[in-house]
Amino acid sequence: MNRILLGLIIFLAFGLSQPVIAQDDHSQMIDSIFADRGEVYFSFKIADKEDLHNLTRRISIDQVKGKKVYAYANKQEFSDFLAYNFKFNILPHPGTLLSVSEVNANRDGKLPGYRTLWNFYPTYEQYVDFMAGFAASYPTICRLDTVGYSMQGRLILALVISKNVNIEEAEPQFLYTSSIHGDETTGFILMLHLIDHLLINYGIDPVITEIVNTTEIFINPLANPDGTYRGGNNTVYGAVRYNANNIDLNRNFPDPKAGQHPDGNPWQVETEAWMAYAENNHFSMSANFHGGAEVFNYPWDTWSKLTADDDWWQFVGREWADTVHQYGPPGYFDDENNGITNGYAWYEINGGRQDYMNYWHNCREVTLEISNIKLLPVSLLLPFWDYNYRSFLNFIRQANYGFNGIVTDTVTDQPIAAKVFISGHDKDFSEVYSRATTGFYSRQIYAGNYDVTFSAPGYFTKTIKNVSVSKRTTTSLDVQLRPLTFDAQDKSVSSVFIYPNPSDGHFRLALPENSIKPLCSIQIINTLGSIIYSSEVNRLSENTTVDISVPNLANGLYYLKFNSGYKIYVDKLIIKK
Ligand SMILES: [Zn+2]
Repeated sequence: MNRILLGLIIFLAFGLSQPVIAQDDHSQMIDSIFADRGEVYFSFKIADKEDLHNLTRRISIDQVKGKKVYAYANKQEFSDFLAYNFKFNILPHPGTLLSVSEVNANRDGKLPGYRTLWNFYPTYEQYVDFMAGFAASYPTICRLDTVGYSMQGRLILALVISKNVNIEEAEPQFLYTSSIHGDETTGFILMLHLIDHLLINYGIDPVITEIVNTTEIFINPLANPDGTYRGGNNTVYGAVRYNANNIDLNRNFPDPKAGQHPDGNPWQVETEAWMAYAENNHFSMSANFHGGAEVFNYPWDTWSKLTADDDWWQFVGREWADTVHQYGPPGYFDDENNGITNGYAWYEINGGRQDYMNYWHNCREVTLEISNIKLLPVSLLLPFWDYNYRSFLNFIRQANYGFNGIVTDTVTDQPIAAKVFISGHDKDFSEVYSRATTGFYSRQIYAGNYDVTFSAPGYFTKTIKNVSVSKRTTTSLDVQLRPLTFDAQDKSVSSVFIYPNPSDGHFRLALPENSIKPLCSIQIINTLGSIIYSSEVNRLSENTTVDISVPNLANGLYYLKFNSGYKIYVDKLIIKK
């Protein structure tokens, strides 16, 4: 910190922290504050939390301890804040508390490639190399996605880790993302460490092998690269909270209460990249890592309403906090209610990613504040890994708990995109959806018994009563939905040859020539989609036809479905006596 700046801070702290500042003094003071960077870090005292209700959309509130508020502001936001006439103190910026050499320590003399000890802050180029190196070294279980580009053209990257990573499987998608506030760098390094830990222990450690086999794990270590590398690609010294446009990305998302642009700014390129990535995936659970506090902050942030799954949130939050308490030092992770809090109960924010993901993407996302110190000294990176990694793994495991399964069509066995809704429980988009590609859905929920309703356009709605869920277990619930009307012209099925057709109920089926398993199934389905006849056929060698007798079928149109074990064939069957 240069002497002029230090003098300015002292001057501001002791000279200007008066409730009333003459308007003429404002512009000069503001110019001095923002000469160095696009944002300022400051604190002030409030009389009542209600005071924050309006302020939360003017400035970026960072932390509230009793009546003391810590916040960031860009130039415009700060001049808005001054109009409220609060006493305030300008604080040293968290990205500059350590010296450059302290921030860059442990960085040189690293092993070539990705394998390393995670006790340092990489350069931007090293970071990109590590991410590419992980994917190149483990191509069957690790894939590198480009989420998008920052305003200054830096990469926003996510690694996907899963068994058969290039195939979409019937598994929940789980997301970890960090440092959307660029100066909150602890999670950045811990996520690189987690990627390394998952990859090297796959096939060795049973817990890690299980989560990689059963989950699609997405990890984005750095959501705001321009903020983190504000001081240049060579160091995270000088990291800032905001993006290169001096906008807080974690106040820039559509908000359930405050609308599409709660901060009054257009969506930033980083925000748009994330919205598209969320749209193109089906994240079931997520955590967004921050620093400046130590608490598991669960939704909602924007309003006092509780989520449908408040009991589940408290359960998984408690599990996270209790685990880090067991392995961390006394006093670690004990903000608010001993390490967990409802977001709004702590302080209201609008435009955060957490509420956006919960409300618009049916995803359970939490804001995880993992270190009081934002730019953690490098000597603490390995200890903080040790406090937290068990919770990182436990939380991923939660993605497979609750109930989950596959929703398919009774006639074609094809996957269906269905809504999975618990009447009397779900609200504010807490329901989940099965994916059109696999039919898979997953619903994390607190232990209990639930009546679950499956619905999809073109299908009869089906409710499964008393689905029983226990803690830390998976209840499997595959469901078939019956089409309202059955259309044999569906392109997903192929014809099979029936003769004679029409028939009096005695007819012969010509088996398709290729790809038949020894045991095949035959079903006759009415036009409402109900199965009214089914049988299995043992395909003897060289047998190419099957005789079927259904003399009791009434005259009319039916569909015959033949499942070869590899492929489903459907044809119209007409009975005319
Ligand atoms: Zn933050």
